[in-house]
Amino acid sequence: MTKIITIAIPKGGVGKTTTAVNLAASMAVLEKRVLLIDTDPFGACSMALGFTQENTKGGLFEVFNFMHSMAQVIHRTDLAFLDFVPANIPTQQAEERMLRIAENRTLLKNILRTIAPHYDYIIIDTPPFLRGLTTNALTCADSVLIPIKSGHFSLEGIDKLFKYFDWIREAANKNLQIEGILQTMYEPHTKVTELTDRELQLRFRKHLIKSMIPKNTTLTESSFYGKPAVLFNAASKGTLAYLELARELIEKHRASEQSQTTAPVQIQSA
Ligand code: ATP
Ligand code: MG
Repeated sequence: MTKIITIAIPKGGVGKTTTAVNLAASMAVLEKRVLLIDTDPFGACSMALGFTQENTKGGLFEVFNFMHSMAQVIHRTDLAFLDFVPANIPTQQAEERMLRIAENRTLLKNILRTIAPHYDYIIIDTPPFLRGLTTNALTCADSVLIPIKSGHFSLEGIDKLFKYFDWIREAANKNLQIEGILQTMYEPHTKVTELTDRELQLRFRKHLIKSMIPKNTTLTESSFYGKPAVLFNAASKGTLAYLELARELIEKHRASEQSQTTAPVQIQSA
C-alpha cells in the first residue's frame, strides 16, 4: 500500500527540504518506489536535485491549473527508484494564484489518486507555513513528519502544531497520523542540546524518532551541487543518518502492516 508522508512545520530553515530530498533518496536506494513532491513555491527541492527552469517540463502549478496531468509532470531522477514533481511556480502572481486554488484543500488528494498506486512512498515537502498548500499536503497524507532543529524549538510551538493537526483530523483527514518528531542538525555534547533533549523526552517521548540527523556539511554541499547526499558522498555521517531514518520508517511500516494483515489467533475451547 502506498504511504504518503508530509514533512511539515511552520518554521523556516529547520531541515524540511533536506529531509524530504534525502529521506526520499534513501528510500529509493533501499529499492522502494518513491515520488517526491515539492509544494513550496520557493522550489528548493528542484535545486537540491539539480533541476532548473530549462530542464523542467512543468510541475504542480500546471497540474493545479489543469494545464497538465500529474503523469506529465513526473520527472525521472539520477536514482532509478526516485521520481520527482517540482512545484514550478515561476512568478509572484503564479504563487498567489496557486494559494487561491489551494483553498480547495482536497485538490492534491484527488490529483494523487491515479498515480499513488505506482509508488511505495510519496514524500511531500511543504513551505514554512500551514495554510493553503501545506493544508492540501496534510489532507492527502497518511502521516506527518516534523523536523525540529536541535536546540532551536519552542515547546509551545510544538503544542500549537499538534492542535493544528487535530483540526486537520476533524476537518479534512481523520486518518492523519504523527509519523514522529525528527531531530535535525543535531550537535551532541552541547549544553543546549542536553537541555532540549531532556524537554523533548519529557513531553514528546512517544513521538520521538530514534534516528537523529547530525549537523553535517555534506548535506549542505550536496544540495548546492544538485545531488541527494547519497550520490555526493555515500559515506558521510549525514548520508548514513538519512539511510538509517529510511530503514527505521520502512521497518516500522512493515511491522504495522503485518500486524494489520495477520488474522487473530483463534482460541479453541477444549
Ligand atoms: P524553509 O522553511 O526555508 O524551506 P527548510 O526547513 O526546508 O527551510 P532546509 O532548506 O532543509 O530547511 O535547511 C536549511 C539550511 O540548513 C540549508 O542551508 C541546509 O543545507 C542546511 N541543513 C539542513 N540540514 C542540515 C544538517 N543536518 N546539517 C547541516 N546543515 C543542514
Ligand atoms: Mg524548504
